Amino acid sequence: MVDVIIAGCGPTGAMLAAELRLHGVRVLVLEKEPRPAASFVRIVSLHVRSLEILAMRGLLDRFLERGRQRPVGGVFAAIPRPAPADLESAYLLGIPQPVVVHLLEEHATERGAQVRRGCAVAGLEQDDEGVTVELAGGERLRSRYLVGCDGARSAVRKLLGVGFPGEPSRSETLMGELALAAPPEEIAAKVAEIRETHRAFSLQPFGEDVHRVVVPAAGAGAEPPTLEDFRRELRAIAGTDFGAHSPRWLSRFGDATRLAERYRTGRVLLAGDAAHIHPPAGGQGLNLGVQDAVNLGWKLAAEIHGRAPESLLDTYHAERRPVAEDVLVNTRAQGELWAPGAGPRAVRTLLTELMGLDEVNRFLIEKITAIGIRYDFGEGPGLLGRRLPDTDLGQGRLYDRLHRGRGLVLDRTGRLTTGGWADRVDLIADPAAALEVPAVLLRPDGYVAWIGDDQQDLDRHLARWFGRPAG
Ligand SMILES: Cc1cc2nc3c(=O)[nH]c(=O)nc-3n(C[C@H](O)[C@H](O)[C@H](O)COP(=O)(O)OP(=O)(O)OC[C@H]3O[C@@H](n4cnc5c(N)ncnc54)[C@H](O)[C@@H]3O)c2cc1C
Repeated sequence: MVDVIIAGCGPTGAMLAAELRLHGVRVLVLEKEPRPAASFVRIVSLHVRSLEILAMRGLLDRFLERGRQRPVGGVFAAIPRPAPADLESAYLLGIPQPVVVHLLEEHATERGAQVRRGCAVAGLEQDDEGVTVELAGGERLRSRYLVGCDGARSAVRKLLGVGFPGEPSRSETLMGELALAAPPEEIAAKVAEIRETHRAFSLQPFGEDVHRVVVPAAGAGAEPPTLEDFRRELRAIAGTDFGAHSPRWLSRFGDATRLAERYRTGRVLLAGDAAHIHPPAGGQGLNLGVQDAVNLGWKLAAEIHGRAPESLLDTYHAERRPVAEDVLVNTRAQGELWAPGAGPRAVRTLLTELMGLDEVNRFLIEKITAIGIRYDFGEGPGLLGRRLPDTDLGQGRLYDRLHRGRGLVLDRTGRLTTGGWADRVDLIADPAAALEVPAVLLRPDGYVAWIGDDQQDLDRHLARWFGRPAG
């Protein structure tokens, strides 16, 4: 019996597998698809917090090599305002989603996670000791916990009977890469004309003889759509199909907005799109899923090793569900802002003006990039519950000290110790960092869990997050 079965080897499942392996948890990932997706499908944005997490795990360079950096401005409703000049880490990374999955899966398997492809989870039963997972072919597997990272149509969520309330899709969009026979000048003029009124439409050259096309569709249809679907929708909006031919890939997505009622049901948890779906505005879904995984991994590992403090695992739902709720709101709002019509256009004009104020612009960018997250750890100074940006400690960089996914105390007082928690929590005395507080405790996911200078108080917080001391 393994410790954890993860259903789904998308970005969320692969990241979770790697996080669990950092703590020696035996992990089996079951992936329905027999083969990974082709690497040219769908470029996604990795935002600041996800890039920080990759740096915290020593993965950032691998990702930078395979993606394209671009400035972070314009991420909210594609309103073209550059980021305020003093915003830290002011770039995002555009990278094909299959490359993200490949790199995370590689990272997980390098650390000993097992991935079995062509295995769809079709049934589950849980008892006091564990979970029995049934595969589509009838094979039964046993684990202590199961995490459903199996995407929007999650079989795990449905088998649990967890509600997924929200709004169904109101509009569909076709997206793909294809060749166009029409002359470039004709295409450019027509596209400029359509975008005056339809902001959701876009058609851009993308490499040699290929255009990336995003076109609103009249109604729901098959996924993937056909070339004829694209031609029909192009004719409806542009009066011409631009001679579209030779598709490289075609896809369809909607704008449904839904959130799972609970993230944990006994020994079964949900993460990523299995727990939340929303329109792709601002490019946040994958980022959200990867960050779910990083929040859950160390907590589940502590539970499995029998040293998790009471209800630590439940803080996963308590912390991550409100973050998803916030993303659902901001994506929904962005959707309204680029709807056609005089009303949304007027609101967009006003918001564009407002975003001229650095504070408004920063607030929205911090939302989309997830650096504005503040978990509710109780009353405390402004930094409590927030992430700590990377910094030079005078003895290496902060994020380099988090590669192993352990807790970390940064102590400027020179008096503190991690005592009986030293097997789980590192200590750096006298960091040169421009830290404006005496000492902080960072959780393995890089969030500030305590600020102070008192040993007893620190011990209380070490026990709160890391359980009983050893020995
Ligand atoms: C057009 C578009 C653009 C987007 N752009 C961005 C962006 O720029 N940035 C961003 O952050 N997000 C973006 N997203 C969202 C992002 O693609 C998703 O949020 C992300 O894929 C979620 O990852 P996941 O691992 O949770 O789920 P998925 O990627 O859906 O992975 C789930 C995995 O589970 C497998 N699976 C399903 N059922 C089973 C089963 N029963 N048993 C075993 N395995 C199973 C699937 O085959 C799949 O591999 C975009 C989405 C769309 C539609």
